[in-house]
Amino acid sequence: MRFEVLTIFPDMFPGPLAHGVTGRALQNGRITVMVHDLRTYTHDRHRQVDDVPYGGGAGMVLKPEPIFEAVHGRHGTGPVILLSPQGEVFTQVVAHDLAAHDDLYLICGRYEGVDERVAEFLVDRELSIGDFILTGGELAAMVVIDAVSRLRTGVLGAEASPVDESFVDGLLEYPHYTRPPVFEGHAVPEILLSGHHAEIEKWRRAQAKARTQQRRPDLSRDQ
Ligand code: SAM
Repeated sequence: MRFEVLTIFPDMFPGPLAHGVTGRALQNGRITVMVHDLRTYTHDRHRQVDDVPYGGGAGMVLKPEPIFEAVHGRHGTGPVILLSPQGEVFTQVVAHDLAAHDDLYLICGRYEGVDERVAEFLVDRELSIGDFILTGGELAAMVVIDAVSRLRTGVLGAEASPVDESFVDGLLEYPHYTRPPVFEGHAVPEILLSGHHAEIEKWRRAQAKARTQQRRPDLSRDQ
């Protein structure tokens, strides 16, 4: 899968994506991250990507022309996404949806944000990674790339399954334990040492339901 990223800070990439599962996927070509410097699409001497907001107010706004030009010259045909705190919240369901495409184009905002015509007339989707304000869209783009990549065939390998984890079926995952069986006086639940697979499954399902009810009742309601 190919991710194209439009940013004024291309050196931030691949950053954390170069490590672990995504690092391996980058190395073996299961994913590629193509980074475009927004300044490449400017045509003035100062390579200006931002300007003052119409109507006044603090901060600068990313200009529309270089963003439109960059997106019009993109390599793929998949969804064009603007990272924005005002977008639809990025969830595991959205990640699955995006993983069905062979390429995505991610636009990273900065400063006060991006000229509204980008959201209105250029992008297919605006995505927020949560109800907080970041200084730019780059970390949000990395979050999207990470979560989507691991859903692509062959990216996780034998390490883990994306089927048996939190948010699948509207449930948080059950708790995990590893050795030792007793640590500082705290024992692993006996059932997990019993070898009764059907009983362990039942216990895990009950744990998943109970912790979802307790921690995120909104998840089961949303199902
Ligand atoms: N003035 C904007 C507002 O109040 O909605 C916030 C702009 S923010 C400082 C600059 C850029 O960071 C945004 O254009 C967006 O690309 C990115 N960003 C900030 N928070 C984000 C979030 N929660 N999810 C996705 N992108 C975010």
